[in-house]
Amino acid sequence: RRSLPCDSALRKRSAKVIPGGMWGHMSAKSLPPAYPQFFRSAEGVHLTDVDGNSYIDFVCAYGPMIVGYNDPDVEEAAGRQQARMGIANGPGEVMVDLAEFLVETVPAADWAIFGKNGTDATTACVSIARAATKRRKILVANGAYHGAVPWCTPWPGGVVAEDRAHLLYYDYNDVSSLEAAVGEAGDDLAGVLVSAFRHDARIDQEMPTADFAHAARAVTDRNEAVLIIDDVRAGFRLDLGGSWEPLGVQADLSAWSKALGNGYPIAAVTGKDWLREAVQTVYVTGSFWCAAAPMAAALATLRKLHRGDAVTHMARLGEKLRSGIESQAAARGIGIRQTGPAQMPLILFDDDHTLEKAYLFSTKALQRGVYLHPWHNMFLSAAHTDADIDLTLEATDAALEAVADVFG
Ligand code: PMP
Repeated sequence: RRSLPCDSALRKRSAKVIPGGMWGHMSAKSLPPAYPQFFRSAEGVHLTDVDGNSYIDFVCAYGPMIVGYNDPDVEEAAGRQQARMGIANGPGEVMVDLAEFLVETVPAADWAIFGKNGTDATTACVSIARAATKRRKILVANGAYHGAVPWCTPWPGGVVAEDRAHLLYYDYNDVSSLEAAVGEAGDDLAGVLVSAFRHDARIDQEMPTADFAHAARAVTDRNEAVLIIDDVRAGFRLDLGGSWEPLGVQADLSAWSKALGNGYPIAAVTGKDWLREAVQTVYVTGSFWCAAAPMAAALATLRKLHRGDAVTHMARLGEKLRSGIESQAAARGIGIRQTGPAQMPLILFDDDHTLEKAYLFSTKALQRGVYLHPWHNMFLSAAHTDADIDLTLEATDAALEAVADVFG
């Protein structure tokens, strides 16, 4: 399919001026070799790589895209704001509009502050919890991802033990391990950090059990500590009011980013009234944190999600994709596991520790114009249609046939 080898030429140029050619979660080195590193355009649910190949995308920029790339409503709102004022010596009126919208629509939010990246939000939550309680220990689930700074990055490079001196660990959905960690923290427990659901890469996803969610609320209440939910990845895809709303559990602090601005750089921390004072004692800021266009984009994105009943739409199409793939795999006797919420699917193959089956499957789908991820959770968006899922299922059918041919 590839006529001009632009991607390989760019990789060569890149390797000379960017260490390793690319860094972080968007490095194509962690994907099968057929995957492009560089893209040229993005529209709706379609990505076009630098060689002109187009894909129906199920990675959504790893979460930020939620109403479609280059969405006209979001672009119009952001463009209008940018034309009037992008950045200044203070925020625009739009910041108050956005905070009001979040406070109205997120039941656990009495206030909001804004940043740029998810890591800004999770890091601020940890600081706010410590400032509010004047204690140090933060409980974190083993294997959970909360960002890319020393207290939480999954890679060891540049991290010293002291960066994590006051973190204690529990296993997600394991109430007794949570209680054991609370015991270990003793009278120094500042907060418990939970992911919206268990979405660690390369392993089956798990929704939080009601027992676990209620236990997390109970132990923080009992100890006058802060319950923090990291809704950076799942935010606005499971429930527009927050991912634990359906469970009836409200966190004291919620960290948001990714889908909030449909791709515009913006993060938020929302929280409960009792933390208002503490927030004001923590110095969180950044040169670009008050940029107005991403705030306008966020407001337009949230309004559009509410208008369009987006969560129901994403869940329905995710179910359609999931059940289609399920029957295609079953018909060939291929053991697969599709886990997590349907709108954030992860597909893993049985007996595939080396990911050979996942790589073959996703490569074959890619070659038929569908961009899946072999080991990270994927994302549905409000812009996906039934027709996109039908086309995708044609590609997955052929891709599973290839897996059956090679692996039996
Ligand atoms: N928390 C979760 C659950 C995430 O998925 C991510 C990003 N993948 C982060 C925090 C960090 O967000 P960012 O990369 O925007 O700093």
